[in-house]
Amino acid sequence: SLEDIKPIVVDSGIGFHNIGGLQEHIDCLREMVVFPMIYRDVFEMFEQHPAKGVIFHGPPGTGKTLLARALANECSKGGQKVSFFVRKSADVLCKWVGESERQLRLLFDKAKEMKPSIIFFDELDGLVPVRSGKQDQVHNSIVTTMLAMMDGLENRGDVIVIGATNRIDSIDPALRRPGRFDKELYFPLPTDKDRLQILRIVTSKWKNHPENETLVKLAEETVGYTGADLNSLCSESVLQALNRTYPQIYKTSKRLLLDLEKILVKLEDFEKA
Ligand code: ATP
Repeated sequence: SLEDIKPIVVDSGIGFHNIGGLQEHIDCLREMVVFPMIYRDVFEMFEQHPAKGVIFHGPPGTGKTLLARALANECSKGGQKVSFFVRKSADVLCKWVGESERQLRLLFDKAKEMKPSIIFFDELDGLVPVRSGKQDQVHNSIVTTMLAMMDGLENRGDVIVIGATNRIDSIDPALRRPGRFDKELYFPLPTDKDRLQILRIVTSKWKNHPENETLVKLAEETVGYTGADLNSLCSESVLQALNRTYPQIYKTSKRLLLDLEKILVKLEDFEKA
């Protein structure tokens, strides 16, 4: 029922400053989503109609979910708390005929009730794939419902729908027309400069920061890594540093007294990780 649908709470520390690279996307989202939400009066004064939907596409681990979360928090900085709803296609897809459509309608109703809202659909292609003739009644009907829901949104910028996908071509083209998902942002693999920025962001939360030179070298050596890859590389390198500094802890489960200052992640730890 409507009561069961709840927005998720995003860690309020996450903002655009946590994103490495993707600066053009951030600027674009400020104009398309943040400004219409927080300067609503200006957009109304000039009869501007903000976008209803944005598609984030690109390889896994490139920051699509992270940017959506950051966006929800940035919109909330204007004073009005934004409700952030997240659905994976698998959560919505239901084996009972008509139930997925009902879930979708409830979700949009709730988002309107709790506006301003952002609805984030992860794996959008799984939910609204290209319709393939009569055989696929289930998806056809979900696509139709999604189209109706998006057309039914007023274009005031207070309910925004974001869809993420690794396969943009698998999304039904009717959803990619103006007035629906108007804007498509491609999330590429990070460049050398982006990787350095991501490494700095991830390790800046540590008490013992690795040396700058270490991060610069590492950024050069990690061509092809996504943000998610860099994030897990950093986590693993902590264990490597611990192992190198205090190998004796592997020999006992007793808690030994460690000098925390001495546990410093070096390039060799990243390379072993
Ligand atoms: P998927 O398609 O698999 O859902 P995604 O594009 O949504 O992937 P995220 O879940 O946002 O990727 O990324 C996973 C993690 O990787 C993030 O929580 C973050 O720690 C890190 N990460 C990815 N991209 C970036 C980035 N551009 N800046 C900083 N951290 C990043």
